[in-house]
Amino acid sequence: MAFESSCDDTCVALLERISPSIPIRVVAEARETLDSAQAGGVIPVDAVHFHQRHVARLAARVCALGGSGPAVPPDLICATRGPGMVGSLSSTLQFAKGLALAWNRPLVGVHHMLGHLLAGTLVESAENGQQTTVYTRPQYPFLSLLCSGGHTMLVLLTALDKHQILVDTIDIAAGDALDKSARCLGLRGNMIGPELEALVEGISETRKRVFRAVRTDGTNAQFPLKMSKPMTSAKHRRMPDTVAFSFASFSSCVDAFTRNRAVVGDLRDFTAFKIQEMIFDHILDRVNVALAKNAGTGVLDHVRDFVCSGGVAANKVLRHKLRSNLSRLFTFHFPLRALCTDNAAMIGNAGMEIFEKLRLQSSLEVLPMRKWPMESLMDVDGWEPVSDREYRRVTGF
Ligand code: AMP
Ligand code: ZN
Repeated sequence: MAFESSCDDTCVALLERISPSIPIRVVAEARETLDSAQAGGVIPVDAVHFHQRHVARLAARVCALGGSGPAVPPDLICATRGPGMVGSLSSTLQFAKGLALAWNRPLVGVHHMLGHLLAGTLVESAENGQQTTVYTRPQYPFLSLLCSGGHTMLVLLTALDKHQILVDTIDIAAGDALDKSARCLGLRGNMIGPELEALVEGISETRKRVFRAVRTDGTNAQFPLKMSKPMTSAKHRRMPDTVAFSFASFSSCVDAFTRNRAVVGDLRDFTAFKIQEMIFDHILDRVNVALAKNAGTGVLDHVRDFVCSGGVAANKVLRHKLRSNLSRLFTFHFPLRALCTDNAAMIGNAGMEIFEKLRLQSSLEVLPMRKWPMESLMDVDGWEPVSDREYRRVTGF
């Protein structure tokens, strides 16, 4: 059983693995999302109250759906430990500790981003006439591009607990830039990325062709948007010493452009189209620079799989750009769109991996962590070894 509440979603899931050679199956899931549309952002204390209000009911629902509960308790309890808002995290982490103690089951405190990084392999499968969701594994070493509301990074995973961040953002995340820009265009709601995607999808191909040809140097009379590609000026060399993403300039350009101007109709379509295109082109460009920089160093030898995860990875335009540019080099794994954003199934998947492959569990004393660098996955307090006996008791194999 897995819990996720690092931000504004309360998520609970029940997963099943009946043998090490059979992929993990998601048996049941439940979620509630705090409505922050009115507030314009997540208010931490509201999020804490929200998680505390909903977690028990969602856990009961998932147990009922998956045929679990006190008489047939889940074998392992996983909960996001960090990084994230401490109050939000502790709401379900504490609840998970209670269940672990009551049901005499081990607890695994999971790194939220590890959940995302491993989530790209969640696929639909038809079983007994029923549509279910299973995890299949990419082969280490593999690349994982995490594009979410809080993070944008390209990570090389050489093993479950060995990660190297190849490209990170120097300012805000891609999802944050998309959300801020979309808000400037008047889009509202809890999850703005999909709304922006739908707006762009609704533009005719003919118009898109016209928009594509327009330069955003501010000189076009009909579309005077001024927005340049970050890190392409002379001072940022093509092969910089450190490769990085940067998204803050996109949203500040859109903010400046929309502040004293009515951006409606065709101009709004144009701006929406260019935001997506330019943000995604920047991601692709930096990934390519990182690949070129590491070529011949041996770092990327044997990398065949490329996982793309996080909320922004649900976007079809981004998926198409990555696939059409890089599929000669990698096999791509995209999570089901519904499971790109925060969810408990990815936490259960990562928690089971930690328990099975690393033979580790978390002490019941672990506290939520606001910050938890990816490279320090195991360098934190609270990891305890799992004995062979305990392993067999829990897994049954
Ligand atoms: P996460 O932080 O992983 O939960 O993802 C949330 C972020 O993903 C937010 O910034 C959303 O706007 C963004 N997002 C979700 N779906 C899409 C989509 N289809 N296209 C672009 N961005 C999206
Ligand atoms: Zn996330």
